[in-house]
This record gives sequence, structure tokens and C-alpha cells, in this order.
Amino acid sequence: MTASDRLQKRLTKIVCTLGPACFAPDQLKGLVKAGMNVARLNLTHASAKKQLPIVHLVKEIRSKHPIGVGILLDVRCAQVRTGVVEKPIEIKKGQEVCFGVEKLRKESGKHAFISVDYSAFGKDVRKAEILLLDNGEMSFDIVSISKSGLVKARARQDGTIGSRRHVNMPGADISLPTFTDADWEDIETATKEGVDFLAVSFIRTGKDIADVQAFLRKKKSSIRVMAKIETRQAVANFKDILRESDAIMVARGDLGAELPFEQVPVIQDEIVAQCRAAGKPVVVATHMLESMIEHPLPTRAEATDVAHAATIRTDTTMLSGETASGRHPLVAVDAMDRILRATEQHLREINGQDMPKAISDMEARAQSAVLLARSVQATAIVVMTKSGKSAEAISKFRPMIPIIAITDDETIWSQLSMHYGVSSLLCSFKGELEDSVIRGMKAAVAAGLLEKGDEVVLVTGTEITGGSVISIQAREVR
Ligand code: PEP
Repeated sequence: MTASDRLQKRLTKIVCTLGPACFAPDQLKGLVKAGMNVARLNLTHASAKKQLPIVHLVKEIRSKHPIGVGILLDVRCAQVRTGVVEKPIEIKKGQEVCFGVEKLRKESGKHAFISVDYSAFGKDVRKAEILLLDNGEMSFDIVSISKSGLVKARARQDGTIGSRRHVNMPGADISLPTFTDADWEDIETATKEGVDFLAVSFIRTGKDIADVQAFLRKKKSSIRVMAKIETRQAVANFKDILRESDAIMVARGDLGAELPFEQVPVIQDEIVAQCRAAGKPVVVATHMLESMIEHPLPTRAEATDVAHAATIRTDTTMLSGETASGRHPLVAVDAMDRILRATEQHLREINGQDMPKAISDMEARAQSAVLLARSVQATAIVVMTKSGKSAEAISKFRPMIPIIAITDDETIWSQLSMHYGVSSLLCSFKGELEDSVIRGMKAAVAAGLLEKGDEVVLVTGTEITGGSVISIQAREVR
């Protein structure tokens, strides 16, 4: 029996989006206990500065938790939103409404007017096939566009439009720059605060990510950059984006609005496969357990969607409204945890292992460690890692047993939270290597990850004359 069976440890990670439903300290502690690996704060509705008290609270809670928990700030970037309304506007199917920047309100005459916050809206919208609000909750056929840029559109269904709703214009190439001043301010706040990941929204090219990486380098920040794939251009430029990024999110909400929804499953699986081949963590996001915003049980289709993500060995699945604003945040995490564990158990039973190619010496060694673990039926792979890189490389080969990463670096401890199968522990590396190994093993036993008598594969770096070598050993936990 492996540690993951006995302790019901999960290999696929869970990101929880934080919001009013779980901001209370007890709720946040509950989320960590229920299995949240990474806390996500969406900066669409409030700046990084405004959300710092929550970041501090998560940091305080995770400092009392042995296994690393990550913090991800999701930067808003180029997106078009409707304006603020005093009360939601009721729209009937077939009704014609006008969209435009605020100064065009008068021109809309008797039609209901929906203001948008983007000055080139009337120009860019010309290539759009349709207008979508809230990822397609409401859709409009474009009837006409006036010279001044006022867009008359016909509602395809009844609905209401509240404040600051997100507008998708599938087919249009938005000329809005990817990052606004407010986004750069948020990114700067993140560097000062020292969070683990920055997710960047609506990026279109590898250069968008390279710009963020250059900014972070200038600030000497080690934050990892996650590209959200949610535009047509990002899908087309995926190879470049992957090369520049540290991690990827399949942002299925907007992706399914920007592209025909029937293409989302194939794009998702293709992105996960490419990220796995590159050894970079990938998150499958949005609508995973959507019905649990209201209900205490997922639909069977949602359970199957989460199980599918585990079957293709994505690193991480994500909860959005389920934890941020839903009625059952803890129950939703528990449901996701249970589905992932049940699927991983099945994958172990059918021995459904697949090995990507090793593309560096380090990966070749990581692969050897995984093969050894498999042949000795190890309970876990323990890796002593300063930079986290060897733990990441082992994770690439999806050993289907926990990877216990012992590190003395607090940033690496929390950043490993995103990687498949990795449970990270913070330990001092003072003295001889063997002393650190013993301390690390003890910490793993104390955290409930190992038990005395377990057989593990131990991966360490060993100093030799003129450099260092990796050593891979089979050991018993004493
Ligand atoms: C998405 O569109 O799937 C997504 C994750 O983005 P956001 O939650 O920021 O809309």
C-alpha cells in the first residue's frame, strides 16, 4: 500500500478561488484542511493592494501547515467590461439594445443603453460574430454599428445585466494593450508582497509573457508566471506562450466564449499534453463543479469532468465561484478531492502509466528515480531539493506515488504546491547531507506522509571533488 492510499493523499492539486464565501479565517483554515493546495485571488474586482489583508491571512495560516500552500494572484489585463448600473437592467429576448462608450448614451434614444469601458469598442467589434456577456450567459446578434461606434444588438434570450459584466467579442482582434497601468501596479504589488504565482489574463502572444518575465527579473522577483489560455490568438500562439511561461491555465470560461464551446475539450487535452511534455504545470479551470455554487452535490457530468482532468494527468484542477461565492465552499473542495482520489486509485489499479520523453540530463535522472520507485514498489519518492527543480522533473514523469520534496527555501516550499504529486516540507539543510536527510524523513513522518518501515526512493545531490552528482537510492524509513 502506498502513502497516497493509506493517507488518502491526492496527487492532482486543487486551486481554490477565494471570495466573500471563504474570507473568514475559520473558512480559510477549513479550505486548507479540506485540501486546498493553492489560494487564488482574482484581481478583476479589486486591486492587489486592496486584497493584501487576505494574502496576509493565507500566509499566516499556511505558516502553521507543514506542506506548502501557494498563493496565486490573477491579474485582470485586457478585458472589456460593462459599466456600473444602479440596478440590473432587464432584457427580453428579441429586444434591441445599444452598446457603446458612455458619451454615446444620448445617441441610443429609446433603446436600453449598456455602457462599455473600452474606447475602440465600436471599431474592434466590427469583426465580432456575436456579443457575449458573462462567458455567454447572455448573447446578442449585432444589428448595426453607427459611424460614431454605437452598436445596436438584439438579445438572443431573456436576462439581466448587472454592473461590470465581462464582454466577449468572439472573432474580433481587440486592439487594447494587454496590460493597463493598473495591471502593472498589481504586478509590482505582487513582487513587493512575494506571492508564488501571477496568472495573466487574455494574453495573446509569447511576448506578453516575456514582458512580465522581464519586469519580474528587473525587480529580482522569483514569482512564477502562469499564462491563461482564453483567446483565439493565445491558442494559435500556444507554443511561443508555453516557452515563455512557467505554468499554464486552461481558462475554459472565456475560452468557450471566444471559441466554439465544442472545441474546448480538444484544446484542453492538447494543452495538457504539451505542458506535460515540457514539464510545466498546467491547471484545468472553470465550471468544474459549477452546480455546487448552489447545490451540495455535483452533477454526475461534473464529477466525470474532474475525473477526466485527473486521467489526463493535469497537475491541478481549479474551483472558481464554487469556493469564492458559493453556498458550500468546503463541500465543493471535499467533492473535488474525493473525485480526484478515486480516479487516481483507479489509474493505479489499471497501471495506467505513460512516460513522456526526458529532455535533459536532470530529467533522465528523474526518470530513473521513477523507474526505480516502480520496480521496488516504493511508498514515495523523497527528494532533497534547494531549487525545487529535481522535484519538478520527477513530477513530470507522474510516478503515481507522492513525491516528498524537502527544501530549505520558503519560496520553493510554497511554489511546489502547483506540481502534480509533490508534497513539500520546509527543513534546514545545515550540516552534513545525511543529517538533513534524517531531519527531512522525520518531518515527513511527523506530517503523516511517511511511516517507519516504508520503502522510499531517495534522490539527493552529493558533493564530489570538482562538482556534484545526483544519487538515487532505495531506503527504508527508520
Ligand atoms: C476563465 O475564463 O475560465 C477564467 C479562469 O478566468 P476568470 O475566472 O478570470 O474569468
